[in-house]
Amino acid sequence: MASKLPFELNNPKIFHDKALVGGEFVEAKSGKRFDVYDPGSGKVWATAPAMGPEDVDDAIKKAAEAFESYRKVNPRQRAKWMLKWDQLIRDNFDDIAKIVTYECGKPLKEAQGELEYSLGFTWWFAGEAERVQGTVQVPAAPNRRVFTVKQPIGVAVALVPWNFPVAMILRKVSAALAAGCPMVVKPSPETPFSVSALAYLAQEAGFPKGVFSVLPTSMENTPALSEALCRHELVKKVTFTGSTRVGKLVAKICADGLKKVTLELGGNCPFIIFDDADLDYAAEQLMALKYRHAGQACISANRVFVQKGIYSKFAEVLAAKTRALKVGHGASPDTTMGPVTALRALDNAEAQVADALSHGGKVVAGGKRLQNTPGYDGGYFFEPTLITGGTDQMLIAREETFAPVLGLFEFETEEEVVRRANDTSMGLASYFFTKDVDRTWRLLENLEAGMIGMNTGNQSAAEAPFGGIKESGYGKESGKDVAINEYLITKTGTLTLK
Ligand code: NAD
Repeated sequence: MASKLPFELNNPKIFHDKALVGGEFVEAKSGKRFDVYDPGSGKVWATAPAMGPEDVDDAIKKAAEAFESYRKVNPRQRAKWMLKWDQLIRDNFDDIAKIVTYECGKPLKEAQGELEYSLGFTWWFAGEAERVQGTVQVPAAPNRRVFTVKQPIGVAVALVPWNFPVAMILRKVSAALAAGCPMVVKPSPETPFSVSALAYLAQEAGFPKGVFSVLPTSMENTPALSEALCRHELVKKVTFTGSTRVGKLVAKICADGLKKVTLELGGNCPFIIFDDADLDYAAEQLMALKYRHAGQACISANRVFVQKGIYSKFAEVLAAKTRALKVGHGASPDTTMGPVTALRALDNAEAQVADALSHGGKVVAGGKRLQNTPGYDGGYFFEPTLITGGTDQMLIAREETFAPVLGLFEFETEEEVVRRANDTSMGLASYFFTKDVDRTWRLLENLEAGMIGMNTGNQSAAEAPFGGIKESGYGKESGKDVAINEYLITKTGTLTLK
């Protein structure tokens, strides 16, 4: 346990700054540790073991041993452990939220919101555990019966990003454990502690040792550790959430072992407002979607298309709301937007703003780095930024911004905006606002994305299948049947009746 944290915990037992292998908290074999920074101050606040490829075999073998007995545990027992886990997470709700705020910078209220949303997954997958079913069929051939049975696939590995460190874990681990599969998680170097807290609580809830392991590591060790995990012969399933660039690398490595893979990758999500929409409501939804975690959500609005007749009015409303955001450390109660999680994101945001200006865009709110200005010290702060006069050639149109930088793009017709919205290699989420029912159906069918928000910016829930198309990846991570199936194999039995 860490000696001194920059905040108080009601239950210090949940904080672990070690790896979890086979149910035991351990150091890396190399003995190396790495620094974890508070993005709100730019200072180191804790350290964690830098696990390496040499630590992988032990962790996977222990998970594989655990699989031999865990696969035989009946689904109701798994569901009971899941619900106990759910309760323990609720009991430690504020402590876990604090850890998330110090790891990734988001305001405490947002961290609590993330936890509340994430507990949908423990609850949902407790139910899914008992809904795994096979089939019986009478085929064309005489005297035959065909059966299918579903079984857990085996040891699963999760490689996860830092932006929703609790949601990513509960979404993946709950599905795996419900299906009967142990999971080994490699968190991002920025966020190793919220996952250790969740894993500790899973053991406290009764899940057997070795079914949930955590291998934190440094940025430097990340590629080698991830590759060793994906290549291990006892790993049967890999689930990756992160950038499209790294997702493609992971898919190539997994292809060598023909492993089942789920890829939740980047987005470049269009958010379309037609001139018949309720403007204030659309603006509120956009603010919540875009500036949540300082713009660092995969399903965040990236390109905001506003119809010509309402463009100026909407820009005014939005600029006022953007200027009203209170930027500060996530732990300060009046903060409504925190820092970006990684220092490199500030350079990226600056480059996006400079590029937009060079293409004729106008900054109507924000636009600057706040780090090292009075009141912000070394924290990774950037002003919430609104750019009007967006064109499809700008970086903010072509790339995922992943920062509090938002561009407004004007359009005239539905046909034009659908073409422009789809003009991207990504296909994660799309949003539109209109009161026209016919148009609602047309857009649901014509927008190229795995998830479509219709008059809402808030469409993610444990009950709804989550996942993208095109270069945003494949596989689904929540929703009925589909998500748990990612951790199951289907076996076919054929019987001839005599
Ligand atoms: P990332 O791709 O850099 O990292 C994701 C994971 O891969 C992390 O665990 C990281 O440590 C690991 N990783 C990094 N480089 C690696 C390498 N060379 N080899 C193997 N593993 C490596 O992404 P990020 O910066 O952590 O997260 C931001 C990206 O994630 C954005 O593109 C965002 O859209 C995407 N994302 C997608 C979803 C979704 O559900 N579709 C959700 C959240 C984030």
